[in-house]
Amino acid sequence: MEYRKFGSIDWKVSALGLGAMRLPTKKILPRVDWDESIELIRYAIDKDINYIDTGWIYGLGASEKVLGEALKDGYREKVFLVTKLPMFLVRKSEDFYKYLNQQLKSLQTDYLDAYFFHGLSRNSFKKVKELNLIEKMEEAKNKGLIKHVGFSFHDTLPVFKEIIDFYDWDLAQIQYNYMDTAVQATHEGLKYAHEKGIAVVIMEPVKGGKLANPPEEALKIMKKASNQRTPVDWALQYVWNQPEVAVVLSGMGSKKMVNENVESASNSGINSLSEEDNNIISELAEIYRKSILVQCTACKYCMPCPSGVNIPENFAVLNNVAYTGEKGGMTFLINRRYKKLAKSKKKLNKEYPNGNASFCTKCGECLEKCPQEINIPEELEKVDAILGKGKNISEYYDLNSD
Ligand code: SF4
Ligand code: SF4
Repeated sequence: MEYRKFGSIDWKVSALGLGAMRLPTKKILPRVDWDESIELIRYAIDKDINYIDTGWIYGLGASEKVLGEALKDGYREKVFLVTKLPMFLVRKSEDFYKYLNQQLKSLQTDYLDAYFFHGLSRNSFKKVKELNLIEKMEEAKNKGLIKHVGFSFHDTLPVFKEIIDFYDWDLAQIQYNYMDTAVQATHEGLKYAHEKGIAVVIMEPVKGGKLANPPEEALKIMKKASNQRTPVDWALQYVWNQPEVAVVLSGMGSKKMVNENVESASNSGINSLSEEDNNIISELAEIYRKSILVQCTACKYCMPCPSGVNIPENFAVLNNVAYTGEKGGMTFLINRRYKKLAKSKKKLNKEYPNGNASFCTKCGECLEKCPQEINIPEELEKVDAILGKGKNISEYYDLNSD
């Protein structure tokens, strides 16, 4: 196992961390398989993984309880254990201890190595401030219930920087992979946090599994490489190559996955990728990018639209068409998602823009606001033609540009 610097924390962290959100489930019911999960968690720790990440909602609420059992018999002391305050359930300050105490009980431990605010965004960060939750974190730290404070993040770079600058965090968990260097916290955010001595934990290194199943064109490029790697290994090595990264989380659901990822981790290193490797990764990213029709990052800078168009949602639905293919099995679900957007003035929500692409009047007010320089009215016209009027997507986009 490779170990890495862990921000300002005195712990030699394993390059690979176990994300306990995708534990083995039983065949018939989508429930966590208790025995298999305990065996798997201990197997991963025996393979020298020493960082474990969980959350209140993981495994439909079972993850923390399973971990509580798995970490008996001396395993607790071997790992840096993190769980998260479920921000979406917190309504008042007192809720902080309601959840923390229950989580300590489920995990059968007296302390957490770190406690995170789960999934901070502009709105949930507002809640952190309004309910004085940082003070609660400090208090819990003084009581010895938690050792370090952090947060996981889902929003844009300006929000990330605002949160980073607000408090002396020990850890920050962000989404990052070779496709997502310019979205969410971005590569700039990764560096920003690292420069402040914060340990940066990476989630979604394989983009929710998308980078594990590359299109044919990408596979051909991988086959030509001097260093033969699996698609998952390419994705993981890219992240470990970054000096600012502390630990990379993987939701490993089987011993096979643990073995493969542990082997990848032992071959990892900072700045260890060759020029050829880096060029290959750029080519792979380019191929994936081609399958994204509109490069919208959902930053919402273009919103609100005076005509009530939900601009990022319209583009998100269209991009799903590209991922699944025009005749993909998801078409029904995509159509249903598009139909949820308002298509008549009567259904337009005055408080929240929910209009579909047909509402665009081409006023151009959004044009200068888009950091991705998307010609929003032009693209919305295509969305309306394809998803609203049922036109063939290939009339507007080249889906097979290889
Ligand atoms: S151009 Fe269309 S999407 Fe942009 S602000 Fe005007 S009406 Fe809204
Ligand atoms: S269209 Fe541009 S400004 Fe609007 S959400 Fe997408 S990337 Fe942001």
